[in-house]
Amino acid sequence: MADSVPVSAFVCGHPIAHSRSPKIHNHWLRQYGIAGSYVPIDVLPHDAATFFSTLRSQGLAGGNVTIPHKEAAFAAVERRDEAADLIGAVNTLWFEDDLLIGGNTDALGFAANLDEFASGWTQSGPALVLGAGGAARAVIHALKQRGFRDIRIVNRTVARAVELADRFGMGISAHPPAALRELLSDAGLLVNTTALGMAGKGDADAMAANPEMLPRHAVVTDIVYVPLETPLLAAARALGLKTVDGLGMLLHQAVPGFERWFGVRPNVTRELRDMIVADMAPTASVRSS
Ligand code: NAP
Repeated sequence: MADSVPVSAFVCGHPIAHSRSPKIHNHWLRQYGIAGSYVPIDVLPHDAATFFSTLRSQGLAGGNVTIPHKEAAFAAVERRDEAADLIGAVNTLWFEDDLLIGGNTDALGFAANLDEFASGWTQSGPALVLGAGGAARAVIHALKQRGFRDIRIVNRTVARAVELADRFGMGISAHPPAALRELLSDAGLLVNTTALGMAGKGDADAMAANPEMLPRHAVVTDIVYVPLETPLLAAARALGLKTVDGLGMLLHQAVPGFERWFGVRPNVTRELRDMIVADMAPTASVRSS
């Protein structure tokens, strides 16, 4: 690697200024002494297909894809990994034998975050997933892969939950918010994937998912990470439940891409996490209980 042309990678989305990915990857480039670059690129929705088809000629080795281009990237690639196919979205791009490949690392990031902060989480019991959007698909894929046999999806628009239950098959059920009280009573894992809880959006109880109704051993996680401690996590922590914030998912999903483009498998460290948390201030407050 030392005597070759520096590798360039990117994160594309619209808007893209808010993305923390450049901070994560540039931290690793510095840490491992790699003379590469990782840049944010704002791509308008109607330019996405052209952007993906010209990566090679732009001298880019690959990159990350964020909202709203994950589905466009899915359509643009020449081959996909299994996770991308199952999730229906691509968040990581790279070249192999001159072919543009699309992968999805969100499921891996979700599971790695819980592995780090809530050991034993796979044995906690039925999982309840709030939301049925793109991120929920990655979460459900991860839950299935990690052996969950009872996954309950609750979504404001029930039809979207039904669609996901059909997509992922056995052991997955779809429910309206009105069923929450009953569904929470024996759930071992509560995952919020809705935008509720994001800074400035919504209040303490995402679709009235009151963590008070959960068993005492339950783990509560929120994939929203701005603020770091969402109202749902704060309520669960106040009850003494195990909570895990969503920042680790973002950090861990970045690992496979960095390894593909720059040839080193990076570590998710406390130092990296602290750096991103500091960058998020003043909205952030550190919490992974
Ligand atoms: P999405 O596809 O737009 O889905 C949004 C979900 O939130 C849908 O289920 C939607 O319900 C629900 N929702 C939105 N507003 C609501 C409201 N007022 N009341 C009830 N439900 C509401 O978005 P996504 O891609 O899944 O992303 C969801 C969140 O996850 C975002 O905040 C994103 O930043 C975060 N995320 C984090 C990571 C990470 O690495 N930590 C990775 C990916 C995503 P309906 O179907 O009824 O509209």
